[in-house]
Amino acid sequence: MNKNQLQQHDREHLLHPFTDFHDLGKQGTRVITSAEGAYITDIDGHRMLDGMSGLWCCNLGYSRREISEAIYEQLNKLPFYNSFFQCTTVPSIELADLLSEVTPAHMNNVFFTGSGSEANDTNLRIIRRYWDLLEQPEKRIVISRKNGYHGSTIGGASLGGMSGMHKQFQALDYIEHIEQPYWFGEGGDMSPEEFGVHAARSLDEKIQELGPEKVAAFIAEPIQGAGGVIIPPETYWPEVKKVLDQYDILLVMDEVIFGFGRTGEWFGADYYGMKPDLMTFAKAVTNGYFPLGGTMVSDRVAEVIKAKGGEFTHGYTYSAHPAACVAGIATLNILREEKIIERVRDTTGPYLAKRWAELADHPIVGEARSLGLVGALELVQDKGSRARFDDKCTAGAVCRDMSIKNGLVMRATGDTMIIAPPLILDTTQIDELVEKARRALDDTAKAMA
Ligand SMILES: *Cc1c(COP(=O)(O)O)cnc(C)c1O
Repeated sequence: MNKNQLQQHDREHLLHPFTDFHDLGKQGTRVITSAEGAYITDIDGHRMLDGMSGLWCCNLGYSRREISEAIYEQLNKLPFYNSFFQCTTVPSIELADLLSEVTPAHMNNVFFTGSGSEANDTNLRIIRRYWDLLEQPEKRIVISRKNGYHGSTIGGASLGGMSGMHKQFQALDYIEHIEQPYWFGEGGDMSPEEFGVHAARSLDEKIQELGPEKVAAFIAEPIQGAGGVIIPPETYWPEVKKVLDQYDILLVMDEVIFGFGRTGEWFGADYYGMKPDLMTFAKAVTNGYFPLGGTMVSDRVAEVIKAKGGEFTHGYTYSAHPAACVAGIATLNILREEKIIERVRDTTGPYLAKRWAELADHPIVGEARSLGLVGALELVQDKGSRARFDDKCTAGAVCRDMSIKNGLVMRATGDTMIIAPPLILDTTQIDELVEKARRALDDTAKAMA
């Protein structure tokens, strides 16, 4: 099929995730056909630096044969076996061992799922089981944050705080949302430091309002990813920690994006010095080569759910799929052996921080922020008042299209442009990324004038 035929069949038969079906019908999809290193190529032969690592997952880029070969060999040896009913497979045990090593010291058990959304559903099941076994069944409410993203199953989307999503389904009634630490958008006249404390105090207020005896857990991404790469002010996590220390409430950190090196530490929890009870992972764990997710369970929780008898009536057919597990093993081995995370921490992260900050001088950039290998640009019409161009987020959509045309995949979340490039980028490629982003900004400024 040629490009037009592919687009037509796509329109007629394929319903895409998070897509306006009506719009898609008008424009036609971009058909991506191949990838190499940190670059993707579409059906027209247009090559682009992938500033989004696929969808936050291909942290090692697209050319790691160690991973694809491990999958191929596993599929020929034992393509599938389940881990229900007292069965196991060698790759699942080995990956569980490895994860226990690379996650914080107090986390030594893993429950595998097929995705991040499923893993957050698993978290809801573990949280309830934990409090039931401790004979505190009144602890039921999970606190989450507005504009957080925790997946798209009913559980994941209920935990998430995206108002557009909530309009289209009925959310679980035991989840409550608090403020997000989004200083640029909501900080008003407060300094970032003041606002960080303020946003963290909203957790305390919510706990008090609900009654601590009814609150089971608090879930949050270390940095909101899909919400627009919202890096909280430095005061935020220490203050959250203070609040949580006062109450007997589980902390779930959703590390689906920030796990496996994006901040320059293995996990966002390491970066912020937090001690989560549960930690969701997915995406980069297999470098995007095979679907896999899971939740790391702290010793505190594992001891309770393992010590008492009775079946945990939860699991997925593909929990601990052997091919997914070997993909995870190969990915973690590369991250360790090639010291990729250390390089983000010591070299490429600081280099991106320096180069990305230069974009703040652009006339339509209200803020340029970054951390490790993730960054965001706030597009504004007026820097002083932070006023946007319009309330339809036209600038973001224009900038995304301009960027793609210039050979860089940037994503738009409203009028916030975001990047999360592969962790293998070298400083020359970071220069390329920043220069292409600047060109996209210039083109956007012209188009919006
Ligand atoms: C992507 C994402 C999820 C959902 O993962 P899926 O594999 O798409 O189900 C959950 N949490 C966060 C923070 C994510 O970025």
